Amino acid sequence: MRDFSQDHRWLSINTATVRKSKGADLPLPDIIEACVKRGIRAISPWRDQVQAAGLANVSKLVRTHGLELSGYCRGGMFPAADAAGLKAARDDNRRAVDEAAELRAPCLVLVVGGLPGALQGKAAHKDIALARSQVRDGIAELLDYAKQARMPLAIEPLHPMYAADRACVNTMEQALDLCDELDPKRTGALGVACDVYHVWWDPKLEQQIARAGKERLLAFHVCDWLTPTADLLNDRGMMGDGVIDIPRIRGWVEAQGFAGYSEVEIFSTGNWWQRSHEETLDTCIARHKTVV
Ligand code: ZN
Repeated sequence: MRDFSQDHRWLSINTATVRKSKGADLPLPDIIEACVKRGIRAISPWRDQVQAAGLANVSKLVRTHGLELSGYCRGGMFPAADAAGLKAARDDNRRAVDEAAELRAPCLVLVVGGLPGALQGKAAHKDIALARSQVRDGIAELLDYAKQARMPLAIEPLHPMYAADRACVNTMEQALDLCDELDPKRTGALGVACDVYHVWWDPKLEQQIARAGKERLLAFHVCDWLTPTADLLNDRGMMGDGVIDIPRIRGWVEAQGFAGYSEVEIFSTGNWWQRSHEETLDTCIARHKTVV
């Protein structure tokens, strides 16, 4: 297992972590500047942040600074209530692949979606099996497009508390079943994003990480699970402030040969987004060395 204690060369910042500074929106160019200033070598930006700053502008900034990406957030949201919705998802996902390629991301992260309409407050139906089959079909279709763009797709299983509104793929096992079905030859075109926040509780986690292997471990996300958790979406903890044994999970991932970035992804309306982004980034660096 790599020694992170001496430096932060394997730290990546998911830019949602500092999307707000002292409660105010922080534009992506400012985030990039603050990361570069601290010797942070990689980021994982969100599409809305890229769009706000302009794709060409962000692409230029990334290249000028020699920044790497550890992923691009995000594609997915495949299920829909009608044909027009399915087509809109397909088209949007293709654009996400194109953007990821322009930014030279190593993978496009997929948050696959749940029951259509649930995220907006009213689910169109209760058939989660149907949603899962639409996810399967959506990934299968996008995979063809992504292969041509040489952009790997990373399915991110989300904690089951998000099954209704954000992702009906909830375990590594489920995500890897999809990988086995859609990319049986393990070409590297399809894999998983392993986010400790979503999977730390899973009794099969070690076994499924081993099943994934190096070819399918495309991203590793860290933060912490707070007790109590005040908000299901936006109360993620800083590494070391919660109950996840992050080094143990990183050890399992690296035992498979994963040698990429450890990406900090914290959504925190009540705490970190209220602090200055400088403090948040400095804390990420410190915790990366001590508790990741
Ligand atoms: Zn994640």
